[in-house]
Amino acid sequence: MIITIDGPAGSGKSTLARNLAARLGLSFLDTGAMYRAVTLVALEHDIDPMDADACARLAEQLELSFDAQGRILIDGRPGEPLIRSETVTKAVSPVSAHPAVRRALVRSQRAEAERRGGLVAEGRDMGTVVFPNAAHKFFLTASPRVRAQRRCRELNAPARLAEIQADIELRDHLDSSRKDSPLSCAADAVRIDTDTLNPEQVVEALLAHIRKSARG
Ligand code: C5P
Repeated sequence: MIITIDGPAGSGKSTLARNLAARLGLSFLDTGAMYRAVTLVALEHDIDPMDADACARLAEQLELSFDAQGRILIDGRPGEPLIRSETVTKAVSPVSAHPAVRRALVRSQRAEAERRGGLVAEGRDMGTVVFPNAAHKFFLTASPRVRAQRRCRELNAPARLAEIQADIELRDHLDSSRKDSPLSCAADAVRIDTDTLNPEQVVEALLAHIRKSARG
């Protein structure tokens, strides 16, 4: 079974995908980590994030795999925590806007689903482009202010709220306005607003939808 979860930065997709996969006995796929991995290696090799050909070559050549906890390995080495650094976060949207980068990563995302026999996949285009026939599709939303507050708590940096909110809004804009596979809600996805929900309530909301649609 394939379940897709899409949504903007900081909407809680990663935590949710992990929790939901654990509850259903499925594995999960963090596709943002794959775009971050290509971006990290591009920066390490002084490749300009705007250089479509060089970024695409990297995306095709890198061997991306996952450890037992679902954390990304880049040519066998752990991608965490470097893929979460602020330099990578700032450069990832231009890298992921290149169609040839997306083609290479979408191919591996579909291969992972095939190899594992199903999964919970989270990203920006899971329900719209990568797995259009998924059994269940969800789209998470939350206001930029709430998403920035969550990020500030994670970083333990309350004083940076305005700056972090501006970064989130810029990434939303870049990810939603690119030509190839922009962030958008699939017509058949269930929208969940997480502003007033905690992680456990979000999982319960998704499980309720899944059970309801299983009963037909
Ligand atoms: O989800 P996360 O914040 O880790 O994603 C990092 C970036 O990767 C996003 O801002 C977006 O540019 C890109 N991305 C994408 N398509 C996906 C997942 C992530 O373009 N399916």
